Formats: sequence, structure tokens, C-alpha cells
Amino acid sequence: MKKRSLFSVLLYVGVLALVLSLVLGLFNLGQDDLTYSQIVELFNKEQVKSFVVEEQTITLRLHNNYNGKDKLSCPLADPESFRQEMWSTIQEQTKNGVLESYDFLPQEGFSPYDLILPLLIVGAVLLLLWVLLMSRANNSGHMANFGKARTVMGVPDGKKVTFEDVAGVDEEKAELQEIVDFLKDPEKFTKIGARIPHGLLLVGPPGTGKTLLARAVAGEAGVQFLSISGSDFVEMYVGVGASRVRDLFEQAKKIAPAIIFIDEIDAVGRKRGSGLGGGHDEKEQTLNQLLVEMDGFSHNSGVIVLAATNRPDILDPALLRPGRFDRRIHIGAPDVKGREEILKVHARNKKLDAGVDLRIVARSTVGFTGADLSNLLNEAAIMAARDNRPVLTMEDLNNAMMKILAGPEKRSRVRNRRDLHVTALHEAGHAVAMYNLPTQDPVLHITIVPRGNSLGATWHVPRDDASNLTRNQMFEEIVALLGGRVAEALFIGDISVGASNDIDRASKLARDMVAHYGMCEALGTVSYLDDGEVFIGRDYQMTKRYSEQFAGTIDEQVKQLMDKAYARCAELLKKDEDKINKIIAFLLEHESMSGSQFVACMEDREIGEAELVSMFQTDEETEE
Ligand code: ADP
Ligand code: MG
Ligand code: ZN
Repeated sequence: MKKRSLFSVLLYVGVLALVLSLVLGLFNLGQDDLTYSQIVELFNKEQVKSFVVEEQTITLRLHNNYNGKDKLSCPLADPESFRQEMWSTIQEQTKNGVLESYDFLPQEGFSPYDLILPLLIVGAVLLLLWVLLMSRANNSGHMANFGKARTVMGVPDGKKVTFEDVAGVDEEKAELQEIVDFLKDPEKFTKIGARIPHGLLLVGPPGTGKTLLARAVAGEAGVQFLSISGSDFVEMYVGVGASRVRDLFEQAKKIAPAIIFIDEIDAVGRKRGSGLGGGHDEKEQTLNQLLVEMDGFSHNSGVIVLAATNRPDILDPALLRPGRFDRRIHIGAPDVKGREEILKVHARNKKLDAGVDLRIVARSTVGFTGADLSNLLNEAAIMAARDNRPVLTMEDLNNAMMKILAGPEKRSRVRNRRDLHVTALHEAGHAVAMYNLPTQDPVLHITIVPRGNSLGATWHVPRDDASNLTRNQMFEEIVALLGGRVAEALFIGDISVGASNDIDRASKLARDMVAHYGMCEALGTVSYLDDGEVFIGRDYQMTKRYSEQFAGTIDEQVKQLMDKAYARCAELLKKDEDKINKIIAFLLEHESMSGSQFVACMEDREIGEAELVSMFQTDEETEE
């Protein structure tokens, strides 16, 4: 049992004991503490009309009020000696009619009646505890349904979610359409022996619509949606997580075709053997069971497992193997067009003033996720409603924006034009350098939409075989890595920390070339570093195999190489300054640029259908 629930049980018992003692205390208050001699005195004064001795209490009825009462109840430490001592008095007063009745209830050591009250109390306590725990269990999954998977069937609010409700993720939807088609008509696929993936991993930061998308797949296909959160598996006793997994898959198979959705799979799917301390074995058991279940169902069982995470890097590699979550769909923060579409989706059930331009809203919300945008519109609607206005105005949206930005964590999300310009310039620098370097891969995509902790990104075809690099390739890679920094230095005369990662990687590459691969004339074909494995440009521990005499030379040669790369990069970028400015303008307008748009720009062709608006210039005018 977890500490919390143990604690609350103790709390309940404590509260109960308090209540009981209070109740008993009330009974005690009902007793009139007469001393033994006072009782005897009452008898001697012929005041007692009747009495009952029960256990160690005597209850007296009096002829005249005593202390304002005609009925007294007081403790009697030793009823037997009381009886012996008073017996003659009792006999006498009964005879002369003073004492009308008396009773000594049998004081048996054990009577079934004695047990009833305590039993009732214990029973009530147990019942109360049980009820309390059950109600907690319903809230948080404790105690009850130990091994049952706590799942949500269908759509909780009863509303069917379809692809219509998810905007700005067209490519992702297209990819998921295949799954939808399969779930709609599994036979069509199995007949021709097509293999449909068991599992699909939705990867992306929080609020980008992973859960929504998974629901939409179920909605589109019209199948059951079993959803569970990874953390539900791990909060319980040893063995329970595994049994929940088993139960989940059993349920799904019964109602197939169905989708199992495991949210936050990283909570249960962490790399094995990486945990520290407690709860670790339990997690491994659960993960193992998940692996077994995913292997266990055949391709035509009609069950597809979707899972969501924002930390795919910490997942156990076994989860990602073929037959398990072997497909990934990346969902990033939406770009300006995506944001506009998402805003439109969430504006569907709201009345907007004619002056509201969602395009402008989309533009000023760089870095906002779908959840942020939905929240923004909702805040604005609340503001309108509070003022009893039937429609939502641009001013409401502005105010909502202010409110959201006042929250601590979002402030950094919205960046000013200047910031965006630096990022655009940085990325343009990388891209143009890459374009001009024959050994470098073509640019696939450039974006200034922040992802994770990087401000922008330039993607190119990933290098597939690191061990096959030539000296020239490595040198040109360094040049490309420096592109961002060099562009900043050349065109705004100041440099930012945004390039620190680039410079890190470039420096490691340069050091590898000089000291590891023997690619430097001054030092000869000698490897001065030793690591069993060769990973270029990565962080790893290397043992040095050189004397202090060489240490200086290595550093010097690394610096020379970097300087050479820097000069080469500057030369390339200066030549294409006009292109860089065009790319910056395009990025400030559209936030991302496709590979083909980039090539069109470099070849002085028209860039797509989009018009160029030079934000750069207007920004400079206002800033300076
Ligand atoms: P995640 O699971 O990735 O953290 P959710 O799917 O829970 O994100 O998204 C939270 C909410 O944000 C959704 O319910 C929806 O209202 C909104 N949202 C997120 N992404 C989108 C999108 N692409 N289109 C429309 N709404 C979105
Ligand atoms: Mg989610
Ligand atoms: Zn960079």
C-alpha cells in the first residue's frame, strides 16, 4: 500500500476514535459523580425511591430532587460489597415502602448481550472504513479492482471525435488513415496478407493533440476506444500492473475491433535496469507483460495499440522493436497555418465578432500548441460572457492573451520579432551553408517554430553511415554547423547563445579529426584518443594517449581547423546574402520553409504561391 493511503487509513481510525471517545464522554457527562458515601447517605435519608445496579453503575430514582434531579446515575466500584453493606437497609426500606423497587442485574462474566454493542461498534467501524476506502478507490483506483485495467471506454463525454476536430496535422492524419481503413474492414487487409502494425507511437510535446488524434482514429473507424494512462499501471502493489495489462488486452480482444490507447507510456515503458530504488521491479514486470501481450495478439485480431509520449528517448528499446511500437508519428507544435486551422476548429462553437481575424491571432502565437490555442479562445469567450456580450471580439482575444502570457511558463513561448529574426537568420545560415557545400545533404525543412529547448531547426537527410566519412565531408559538416553562428556574426554583428550546441558539436568533430582519425598533417597519422567505439561528434569518454607536449599542439590544430571552417563559412554566406534575406523574410511570414521552397529560393525561382512580406525591414525601422 502506498504511504498516502496508509496514512489516510490511520487518519480515519484516528477520527473515528475521537468521535467514539466523544460519544462515550457524553455518556459520562450523563453520570452524576456521587461518592460512595453520598449514595449511602441518600439511602439513609430515605430518599431512594428505586434503584438498579447494572455492572458498575447504579441508577437511582429519588423521592425528592437532589442537585435538581430526581434520577441519578453514578459509578459503583464494587457492586457486591455495596449490596452486602446496604442489604439490611434495602430490606427495611422496601418493607416500609420507602424503596419501591430495586434490581441487581446479573453481573455475569460473559453474556452474549455484552458482546452486541462492541460488535456493533466494530462492525460499524469496519463498514465505515470500507465505504471510505471504496469511495477513494473509485476516485483513484486504489483497493478495488486490483488487477483490473481502469479504462475509459468510448468517448467519455459521449461526443464522437473525428479527424475534423483535429487541425494542422494533415500529414499525421493521412498516416493514421491507414489504421482507420484497417479497423473499418480488417478482412480486406488480411485477405491479401497485408501486415498492419500492432502498435503506433505518437510522439510530441504535451498539448499537441496526441490524445485527441488517438480518439479521432477510433471515432473515424467507429470502433471502441480503451484508454489508460501509463501511470495507472505503476501506482499499485507488485504484480498488479502486470495483471492490469493482461486485463486490458483481454477486454480489447473481446470487443474487437478496438483501439487501446496508452497515454504517457513512458511511465511504464522506461528503459529497464535504469531505475533507482523502489518500485522498480514492479515496473519491469508490468513492462514485460506489455511486451508479452503485444507479441501475443495476431495481426488479424483487430486490436491496434496507440501510445503517446513526449519522451521517446527514455523508452525501453524492446518496446520499439518490430511487432510492437514499430511506427512513430511525430507531432510538433503547429506552424502559423496549422495554428489558424486549429483556431478555426475551436471557434466553431463560438460567436466571433466580424472584426476577429484568426490569421492575426495565429501569427502572434508562435510556439502555442493546440491546447494553448483552445485555452486562448476559451479565456476570450469567458471574458465576453462575463461582460454579457454575445460575441467574442478581438479585444477579448488580446486580453486573454495577456492573461495567458502572465502565467509564468508561457511567457517564453511568445517571442518578439527581433528574437524570431535572429532565429530565422541562424537557420538560414545553416541552410545556405549546407546548400553550398557539395558533400552536405540537401536541406529538407527549415523552421523557426520552437521545439523542445531549441529555437528553430534545419533538417537535412540524416547521415546514415558515420564510419564512412572522408576528411572533406567532416570538414564541410563543421562548416555547416557553424552556419548559424557565422550568419549572426556577419549580418547582425552580434552573436547569440542559440549556437552553443552547434559549436559544441563542431568542436568535437574537429577534435576527432585532429586527434582521433589522424587527419591533421602537423600531428601525423596518429590516433591520440582511444575509445573502443567510434561515434563521431558525440559525447563520450575517451582516454588520452598523448603526452603533455602534444596536448598544446592538438588544441592549436583544433583551433586552426575551426578557424578555417569559419572563414569558409563566412565566404559562402557573404556570397548569398540576398538569399539569406529572402529566407528570413519567408520564415518570418510562414515560420517554416519546405526543402523545395528553399531550393526555389536559392535558384532565384518563385517560392511557392506565398507572397514575400519583408517583416525584417519594418522591424528594423521600428527597433532602431
Ligand atoms: P496531448 O495528448 O498531446 O497532450 P491533447 O490531445 O490532450 O494533447 O490536447 C488537448 C486539447 O488541445 C484537445 O482536447 C484539443 O482541444 C486541443 N488540441 C490540441 N491539438 C489540437 C489540434 N491539432 N486540433 C484541434 N485541437 C487541438
Ligand atoms: Mg494527452
Ligand atoms: Zn544552429
